Amino acid sequence: MKIDLRSDTVTKPTEAMIRVMAEAEVGDDVYREDPTVNRLENIAAERLGKEAALFVTSGTQGNQVAVLTHCVNGDEVILEADSHLFYYEGGAMSALAGVQTRTIPGVRGTMRAKDVEKAIRGKNIHFPRTKLICLENTHNRAGGAVSTVEQMKSIYDVAQKYQIPVHLDGARLFNAAVALGVDVTALCSYTDTVQICLSKGLSAPVGSIIAGDRDFIEEARWWRKKLGGGLRQVGYIAAPGILALTQMTERLAEDHERARQLAEGLRKLSLQVEPVETNIVLVHTESIRESAVDFLKRLEGKGVLAVDFDEYVIRFTTHRHITEENITRVLEIMEDLLEAVASPR
Ligand SMILES: *Cc1c(COP(=O)(O)O)cnc(C)c1O
Repeated sequence: MKIDLRSDTVTKPTEAMIRVMAEAEVGDDVYREDPTVNRLENIAAERLGKEAALFVTSGTQGNQVAVLTHCVNGDEVILEADSHLFYYEGGAMSALAGVQTRTIPGVRGTMRAKDVEKAIRGKNIHFPRTKLICLENTHNRAGGAVSTVEQMKSIYDVAQKYQIPVHLDGARLFNAAVALGVDVTALCSYTDTVQICLSKGLSAPVGSIIAGDRDFIEEARWWRKKLGGGLRQVGYIAAPGILALTQMTERLAEDHERARQLAEGLRKLSLQVEPVETNIVLVHTESIRESAVDFLKRLEGKGVLAVDFDEYVIRFTTHRHITEENITRVLEIMEDLLEAVASPR
């Protein structure tokens, strides 16, 4: 079996999740009659410290429903230059919501409050209106980097001053909370709306949550329906989400420990590795003068999967199926591959 470090999205549901799926009580969720979905949404709202929550099919759908709910076409949205919303959602913000993006490079994925403030549009007949600020925690392209509660607060303070809502792409927000040793509500208190993925490290098979105040979620529910995301007896796939939120968050610390072990071993092999804060390890391949894609091909030949993140950057992501033995094995394979580069036949 291959050691799959491509993403934490590859995690399969736990046995307990499969049991609750089979036993879920269901109804038609478009009529709001699915008791399992209602329970998941109530638990999620409480866990995130928001008034209400909505189960959506994916993180992308959750983020896009949030943008659609906050903005009208022609509005401007401030977001980090390497953010998932900008980089990895197929241009959906402009295609669906018709908004214009204003990107700001962050420091390890976190924008500086003063840069955000500078980008906010004043009143001028020539300007679009700044209607939303999007944050991402942990930040995927910055290698799972964490924004602290203080950093989130400093941007939220600016947003409040100009009365602009903040949306948090918290696909891996529980990883951030575990890494910081804070309750997830501490991070959510500095955002108006939030999206979290149930299907990444938390191991549910499908789905995300968006949360915010009651009015926002009512409107978001309408947008979700309009996008074809109103589902019927969806309690069968919402049921594992309840376990994801109530049983799977604390164990993310194990994934972080595996990532730390992997990074430490790779540095010992003289590879340049980005700082590791959560479950993502970014490794540079410039020093071995081999592109990420070429190195990954050789790695796959030895039974290890990862993804390319840039021409000379590989991303490894740890998750529930990756054991300490797997990490040891990956490091042995990496050492062999590096030797083969050093002494080509
Ligand atoms: C994975 C991810 C998403 C999107 O989630 P999907 O369920 O794959 O659509 C959004 N934002 C970030 C930061 C992610 O890592």
